[in-house]
Amino acid sequence: MTAASPLEIRTFTSAGFGENAYLAVCRTTNVAVAVDPGAEAPALADALVALGAALEAILLTHAHVDHIEGVGALARRVRAPVYLHPDDRPLYDRAADQAATFGYRVEAPPAPDHELLDGQLVRFGECMLEVRHCPGHSPGHVILYSAAAGAAFVGDVVFMGSIGRTDLPGGDHRRLLRSIREQVLSLPAETTLYPGHGPATTVGHERVSNPFLVPLYGGGLA
Ligand SMILES: [Zn+2]
Ligand SMILES: [Zn+2]
Repeated sequence: MTAASPLEIRTFTSAGFGENAYLAVCRTTNVAVAVDPGAEAPALADALVALGAALEAILLTHAHVDHIEGVGALARRVRAPVYLHPDDRPLYDRAADQAATFGYRVEAPPAPDHELLDGQLVRFGECMLEVRHCPGHSPGHVILYSAAAGAAFVGDVVFMGSIGRTDLPGGDHRRLLRSIREQVLSLPAETTLYPGHGPATTVGHERVSNPFLVPLYGGGLA
């Protein structure tokens, strides 16, 4: 949160996959959105209730099972429309199969209510997130950027010191690198990146130190 922005971000990390679910709250209006409610969605719902905040939307960066397995539990407790890029809909509809490949079961999530498309603006209270399509880790992966807060939810596109895997169905390493160059590294250096796994980092830090991105270390971006 910067002085100019009322956006407050809370993180809920699951055991196992270590997936980060985020609650983004507009503090001046107490209106919130949830990003990637995974296995810790019940804790996120508890925080929402404790704040007395209204949940405006459930936003999904992509449809891998660790990022969507809590959608059902959250939506049952606090009904809010679910947003997903259409190119990840096939993955979303196979949530149960995805979980089965990891040897566990999940509750089938409710069908998405709205699409997230490149360039779309998602407004909640006095806050706004810009949708940026970042395919590569999955076909319909998006990141959600707040210029006012200097923050972006980047899902599994880029992590502190790493990048998303591209060996899963629909993955494409070259597209991922292009997405990172065009949609992430083009953001202001001081932008805080909130990834789907691991700690938050910044654009500036990853630009000079991420071994997958810095040519000096053998990374792919010039
Ligand atoms: Zn993923
Ligand atoms: Zn993930």
